[in-house]
Amino acid sequence: MAEAQALVLGETPVLGAESVPAAQALGRVLVEAVASPRAIPPADNSAMDGYAVRAADLAGASQESPVRLPVVFEVAAGGDASRTLDPGQVARIFTGAPIPPGADSVVRQEDTERDGGQVRLQVAPPLGEHVRRAGEDVRAGEEVLEPGMLVGPAHLGMAAALSRTQLAVRRRPRVAILSGGDELVEPDGDTHGGKIVASNSYSLAAQCRGVGAEPFYLGIARDDPADIERRIRAGLGADVLISSAGVSVGEHDHIRAVLEKLGCAIRFWGVLMKPGYPMVFGRFENGPLVFGLPGNPVSAMVTFEQFGRPALLKMQGRTRLFRPTLRVRCGERLSKRPGRLHFVRVELERDGDGFVARATGNQSSGVLRSMTRAHGLLIFPAEAEELAEGEQACVQLLDDQVLTEESSRL
Ligand code: AMP
Ligand code: MG
Repeated sequence: MAEAQALVLGETPVLGAESVPAAQALGRVLVEAVASPRAIPPADNSAMDGYAVRAADLAGASQESPVRLPVVFEVAAGGDASRTLDPGQVARIFTGAPIPPGADSVVRQEDTERDGGQVRLQVAPPLGEHVRRAGEDVRAGEEVLEPGMLVGPAHLGMAAALSRTQLAVRRRPRVAILSGGDELVEPDGDTHGGKIVASNSYSLAAQCRGVGAEPFYLGIARDDPADIERRIRAGLGADVLISSAGVSVGEHDHIRAVLEKLGCAIRFWGVLMKPGYPMVFGRFENGPLVFGLPGNPVSAMVTFEQFGRPALLKMQGRTRLFRPTLRVRCGERLSKRPGRLHFVRVELERDGDGFVARATGNQSSGVLRSMTRAHGLLIFPAEAEELAEGEQACVQLLDDQVLTEESSRL
């Protein structure tokens, strides 16, 4: 398992860059450094509504013995800051307004009492009180955004503050998705005669989108090498090709042979895991990475989780490629034969300081409901035969909302 994952990541390239409108950079990895063309804030300014003062004028001022001074002008945010304050004078000032020359501190409105053209100031502010310094956020020329940063809302706010409307980020992988099997129809197709809806195309496309990749659909191939070949050819321009089904050893399983015929170098076939054993991984020279996933709906999703997801993240320059894991206690006894690593779909329930995991019902690889209810995949190690009730285990978190406590609410 670990070996197969390392092999996949070893073959996975990091994609090139593209310049996009800044808003589209959300969730993507920056490939350029962005330095500031100016200081932010551009000038010393007031953090409060109140009065710009010279601190020295207010030495000893208090509620009991306020200092009374004339208010000689007013300066608002965006206002003119050229007028100088002389000793013994104050200026009315508002939040964000530039500190006038001569002033060095601000007394907040709450500590004053206005009296016509004068104001009673009831505190002796320390020098620089309530003054936001020019450049205290960013100095002119300073490098603020760095290559490798994952762009989030704060980065986009900062990019805007730096007057950037375009950002260079890693390209999103394009992923061609193929379903295959004579029994398959689309969700709006005719299911008479026991046809099966090709649900994998939809869960896999969503899993791709969930990590920022751009899926496109190659449709359902019949169990016919010529049809499979034609559809795979249509996906050769993608960065990644993901097929599901047709990778077992049955007479109707043609995917591997078609891939080889088209020149795909198969790197491995079969992984000691459950669900998902019959998985193919390969690579076209100057073409897509290929994940030939098993057809069973849970197998397709779980193999995507273990191999496709980290590869798609790596392509986009991401460095955290894996789901967070959580140590939990087993809420029930689990058993299996040794040999393959099992991914048990589990629901998690808070229990004291920790979490208890219980399987989400029938764990057959065809039972997609086991995924719809799963908060995570419990790792049941390859050689283990039993996990006793109460025993510790590790869960890959699919849904980290489960960590939210009721007490997290404000
Ligand atoms: P196969 O790998 O072709 O033997 O398929 C294994 C199982 O997965 C069969 O029961 C298929 O009907 C089912 N299956 C294959 N492809 C899909 C798909 N795209 N969506 C849902 N089930 C599928
Ligand atoms: Mg089939």
